[in-house]
Amino acid sequence: MSDIRTQLIHHPYRAPAEFDAVPVAVHKASTVFFNNVADLRSRRWKDKSGYTYGLHGTPTTFTLEERLATLEGGRYCLLAPSGLAAVALVDTAFLQQGDEMLLPDNVYGPNQTLADGELVGWGITHRFYDPMDPADLAAKITPATRLVWLEAAGSITLEFPDLPALTAVIRDANAARGVGARPIVSALDNTWGAGIAFNGFELGADVVMHALTKYPSGGADVLMGSVVTRDPALHHMLVDTHMRFGIGVGANDAELVLRGLPTTALRYEAQDRSTRVLAQWMSERPEVACVLHPALPGSPGHLTWKRDAMGAACLFSAVFKPEFSQPQIDRFCDSLQLFHLGWSWAGPISLCAPYDVPSIRRLPWPHAGGLVRFAVGLEAVDDLRQDIEQALRALRG
Ligand SMILES: *Cc1c(COP(=O)(O)O)cnc(C)c1O
Repeated sequence: MSDIRTQLIHHPYRAPAEFDAVPVAVHKASTVFFNNVADLRSRRWKDKSGYTYGLHGTPTTFTLEERLATLEGGRYCLLAPSGLAAVALVDTAFLQQGDEMLLPDNVYGPNQTLADGELVGWGITHRFYDPMDPADLAAKITPATRLVWLEAAGSITLEFPDLPALTAVIRDANAARGVGARPIVSALDNTWGAGIAFNGFELGADVVMHALTKYPSGGADVLMGSVVTRDPALHHMLVDTHMRFGIGVGANDAELVLRGLPTTALRYEAQDRSTRVLAQWMSERPEVACVLHPALPGSPGHLTWKRDAMGAACLFSAVFKPEFSQPQIDRFCDSLQLFHLGWSWAGPISLCAPYDVPSIRRLPWPHAGGLVRFAVGLEAVDDLRQDIEQALRALRG
């Protein structure tokens, strides 16, 4: 080892072990060394008892997985490079050709887009159920049904479903199916509840998916998703699909989510408080027909929310009175100064976006006016209220 090129790589110095500090260390690797051939042959990564290859886990990703399993009240966790990739992991782990998936009518849009695209191409069909009517879910289940997605609150329109009633329908259908039959898996998209507002498993879900892009990140700077389970058999199906697709997350991204986790509950509560103030205030405005927000009496599912949830996240949707045209509503959105136009939510900056609900739904939509969804950030709530107030003047102008 006289050559400097070799010496710089195979250097004998080792820093002392046990560097102990607040942050979790950021471990990066494709290759992981084995001590000898016996070690190479025997080491296992599936139960996190060892390291074999960067894609199969590092101390950084294993730590993040454990903390997220704790957040969701589950036992096992897998990471995906976005929330949507976590949705795709669930779909591909549990669905085969000939199977059917049921989606709530107010499902997160790209979940449906994936179903319309690749899943249909692979011979996997999907239908929609009314998330506010457990009897409708029961009626939609067929022998081919293998996966039911749940979302609380629903995307954009924020109806809060009766998760215990919906998951009871699925449990009953599985009991009627008998031994040996592949059961229906219930998967909850828990991005809104974030593991803070309620425990998805205690409300009956088998699988809890979370877009960490939102609350756990909190910085609008990283994309990631997680899939948490309690049942080892479901976890192992997910692990196999996860490994075969080569799904992994970058160490720096894992670091950002680990950095956001300790403040997740505090940010959730702060944004929840501001959101309730703004939702209530907006619901009293003369320009507004109604505000959709689970904590507002009269919002769909309010009583269920009150029974099952301890938080209400950072989203509310305002439905304008029908006298206001879409160009006027667009001008309102363009006039907001603190609220930026953009997707995603749970970051520091407040956001808004107009939606044409009838064009993305199948169930009848009872409102005639346009809808704007607000995502409340961490700004002072009075500043946000004044911003909406000045933009409402532009709506009339
Ligand atoms: C944002 C979001 C996702 C997808 O997360 P990405 O990381 O943006 O892919 C999934 N479900 C819900 C409810 C979301 O809000």
